[in-house]
Amino acid sequence: MIEKRQFYIGGQWVAPAAPRACEVIDPSTEEPCAVISLGDQADTDRAVAAAKAALEGWKFTPPAERLAYVEKILAVYRRRKAEMGQAISQEMGAPIDMAIEDQADSGIWHIENFITAFRDFRFIRPLGDHAPTTRLVAEPVGVVGLITPWNWPMNQVTLKAIPAMLAGCTMVLKPSEIAPLSSLLFAEFVDEAGLPPGVFNLVNGDGAGVGAQLSVHPDVEMISFTGSTRAGIAISKAAADTVKRVCLELGGKGANLIFADADAEAVKRGATHVFYNSGQSCNAPTRMLVERPFYDQAVEIAREVAEATRVAPASEHGAHIGPVVSEAQYEKIQGLIAKGIEEGARLVAGGLGRPEGLNRGFFVRPTVFADVVPGMTIEKEEIFGPVLSILPFDTEDEAISIANDTIYGLTNYVQSGDGARRNRLARRLKSGMVEMNGIPRGRGAPFGGVKASGRAREGGHMGIEEFLDIKAVSGWDGE
Ligand code: NAD
Repeated sequence: MIEKRQFYIGGQWVAPAAPRACEVIDPSTEEPCAVISLGDQADTDRAVAAAKAALEGWKFTPPAERLAYVEKILAVYRRRKAEMGQAISQEMGAPIDMAIEDQADSGIWHIENFITAFRDFRFIRPLGDHAPTTRLVAEPVGVVGLITPWNWPMNQVTLKAIPAMLAGCTMVLKPSEIAPLSSLLFAEFVDEAGLPPGVFNLVNGDGAGVGAQLSVHPDVEMISFTGSTRAGIAISKAAADTVKRVCLELGGKGANLIFADADAEAVKRGATHVFYNSGQSCNAPTRMLVERPFYDQAVEIAREVAEATRVAPASEHGAHIGPVVSEAQYEKIQGLIAKGIEEGARLVAGGLGRPEGLNRGFFVRPTVFADVVPGMTIEKEEIFGPVLSILPFDTEDEAISIANDTIYGLTNYVQSGDGARRNRLARRLKSGMVEMNGIPRGRGAPFGGVKASGRAREGGHMGIEEFLDIKAVSGWDGE
């Protein structure tokens, strides 16, 4: 069993103030695979103090120096990517090949994009020709608390820690207590890259403990959080008394509007996306809205995709999907599948219980519901499992109305051969992102939502801006 009981504070691996062990469960076997410690107030205070002590030095380093450190982290990350994939696979159940090539690789992708964005990043900007001595000076927010979930662990950590470093902030990371191994490895990468002590600190803990302690800490200027809407709201309230900046990336319930003139792969692509990572992606297009003339055919294609999706342990090589992360998630998903059946949706694939041949591990059957009606529980709630809901629509207005009638607003999707229609819909959908015809958003495009999906913008240039305050200065001398 892996023993990782220490925290990374002030450039050193240190023992927790008081021992409080927490087992990490391998979701494929339901057996503990590692033991970590959960921190308490003394650990949080120690990490925040280390970050505070490092702030003045780090904040005034030349940007090129910070860039050089991040390039070193990238080099270490690239070299140790397989190790990272292994850690992610074990802690949250992503199949090993996907864990290395997608999960671990997403961290590299983000770091590269931040490096590109940072090369021509300007910290001192003119206001305009009308005010020749006024400058907008971008300054690091200060000590930041980073709180991350388990579903795309390195995706989320790199989207926060790297821009925070580049901006000149110092930080305390509290990763998910369910999937902490990848973050502990990331701390090793930072250590190997030789960052000055205290710039990056890691304390493991749960939400009620270290998470809440960071949210109210008087020396933490900002919380960057990814996770559930429930926790995002709790953090916002907790952070209000100290007037912190709070950046939230929360849940989603994406709609995928498929018109009869969509390309032949549209349904397959949408269903595959829902099952990918066992449905544990905040931007999954879990509500498939299909134009009536194409509806029956789409339901049939989705059923085929579900039945062709193999479910197997994370340690097996191949393109299958793994278990969901935990017993709690497994039970939650089972409850929602039962609710779908009870409320009258038509089950066309999958359903309750584990897939055949798997009687241990948190494995869920890839599930498709058709004839889902707006307002049903499975249409409203984020399931975070491999469950697709299909709904018919007759008109564009009806599709827009169903798509927008949700508390969430992260990513919506449109599939249509009609460019004018696509542009029209992209404007009318209430979400931070709209992806159309299977074309991925470009490198460095911001990731984020509106409404209960939170309003952070992560990645690329805008992702660095999140960690900066703008100071307006007049009487500036020179450029
Ligand atoms: P979670 O909210 O339970 O936990 C996320 C993190 O917050 C963990 O580190 C946890 O310890 C901490 N936490 C929990 N309660 C807290 C509190 N009161 N104060 C401070 N910290 C607290 O979420 P999860 O189950 O780990 O992740 C799944 C959720 O994350 C889903 O809802 C998913 O949609 C969302 N998500 C959103 C995005 C996005 O970018 N929008 C990306 C990935 C995941």
